[in-house]
Amino acid sequence: MTDTRTDTDLIIAGGGLAGATLALALARVVPELRVTVVETFPLSPDALPEDYQPSYDARSTALAWGSRLIFENLGLWQVLAEHATPIHHIHVSDRGRFGATRLHAQDHGQAALGYVADNRWMGLSLMRALLDTPVSWQAPAEVTGMTPMPGGVCVQIRKGDDQYSLTGQCLVVADGGRSGLREQLGFVTRTEDYGQNALIANVSTSDAHGFTAFERFTEAGPMALLPHGSPVTAENQSALVWTLTDSALEQVLALSDDQRCQALQERFGWRLGRFTRIGECHHYPLKLTTVDEAVRPGVALVGNAAHALHPVAGQGFNLALRGLMTLVEQFRRAVDEGTPLGDLSILGEYQRLHRQDWQQTVQFSDSLIRVFGQSLPPLAAARDAGLVGLDLVPGAKRWFARKAMGTGGRKPIVSRADCSKEPARNDQ
Ligand SMILES: Cc1cc2nc3c(=O)[nH]c(=O)nc-3n(C[C@H](O)[C@H](O)[C@H](O)COP(=O)(O)OP(=O)(O)OC[C@H]3O[C@@H](n4cnc5c(N)ncnc54)[C@H](O)[C@@H]3O)c2cc1C
Repeated sequence: MTDTRTDTDLIIAGGGLAGATLALALARVVPELRVTVVETFPLSPDALPEDYQPSYDARSTALAWGSRLIFENLGLWQVLAEHATPIHHIHVSDRGRFGATRLHAQDHGQAALGYVADNRWMGLSLMRALLDTPVSWQAPAEVTGMTPMPGGVCVQIRKGDDQYSLTGQCLVVADGGRSGLREQLGFVTRTEDYGQNALIANVSTSDAHGFTAFERFTEAGPMALLPHGSPVTAENQSALVWTLTDSALEQVLALSDDQRCQALQERFGWRLGRFTRIGECHHYPLKLTTVDEAVRPGVALVGNAAHALHPVAGQGFNLALRGLMTLVEQFRRAVDEGTPLGDLSILGEYQRLHRQDWQQTVQFSDSLIRVFGQSLPPLAAARDAGLVGLDLVPGAKRWFARKAMGTGGRKPIVSRADCSKEPARNDQ
């Protein structure tokens, strides 16, 4: 049976990292809005696991310094920091070639260049924070469609055998990189298949990581090792992102754990000593997906639904977060001015302000793959020169550091008084 309910202002399709962060930011910055999140997965703020134990096999995300500042403004950083490992140094190198560059947090007057946080911890922290907000959560439930109507949208939802519609001023699509809704609503998507996969696992090494993130470019694709484990002690554990072609992935998956450690050793070298253990492996096909337009009257795309990047530079969620705060800033303006949330003057401004950041970040990640994925001699020489140049030219290095720290874009204004205080800069 289908009925129509009209008790919300904003509907968010997808309660993943982007959707849940948006809901929290709206509760903090535009608390007068009635927000409903619809999430396919059966996890919601009022059905949370009792406690959290950091697990060796948890997947993690590199959060840029700029993302920390956003979470501080949302009042969530203190909790996230309990299980976030700081990155004090970034080491970028090219296998078999001499170029290398190093970034140090202290050179930028900061406590860290970024942090590595478990995805499960971030999800749980977001949900716990949402418990104290009036955000309404429908899970497990699925947004199946949307029709425009005067002054807003009518969103179709399926929850078990129940089908109903929810009307609101605007739908925000946060249903991830393989967004079915984006396709269904006719947004034009550009997808480029890198012909590569990311293999993710936690690894143990004989040497401690020293809070260093390693980005290693090899002729077979890039590889990242991010410091993982305790927020205060440099442990012998790192989070691995290993880029592999389809056939190389098959070969690596067929290996025993010991053989995988050996293959990893050959690819990465000895900067962290010997690889002694590799945890559960997850793998993802790598594609660059972007849209030409991320808004329509009554609809906005955010997170991976708007732009899904190669994970090598750890930029995807950081970029998403900056976009979310830009959208929240526009919704604040809409409420202050009495403009409907889905009006193109509001959504179009979100797109205009976010577009430059998203285009530059896509280009930054994409060019890392293209320049460093080439073994042709002129390009190889150019990238050696590039790495050495980055090390020698302070301006170039600062530019690279700003990209890595996520502090190069415009600063969104968070206009609620309790969210606008200047974040602390030295407490880790
Ligand atoms: C291997 C890998 C490593 C990465 N590492 C980093 C990193 O170090 N740093 C970084 O910044 N980024 C990183 N990223 C990117 C980051 O993971 C993504 O940007 C982020 O997870 C995107 O979140 P999202 O909420 O947009 O999408 P998702 O996490 O995919 O969430 C989408 C949600 O929508 C729900 N959903 C789907 N369809 C519907 C529907 N019809 N109705 C309701 N709900 C629906 C899903 O159940 C899901 O919960 C990495 C990505 C990969 C693949």
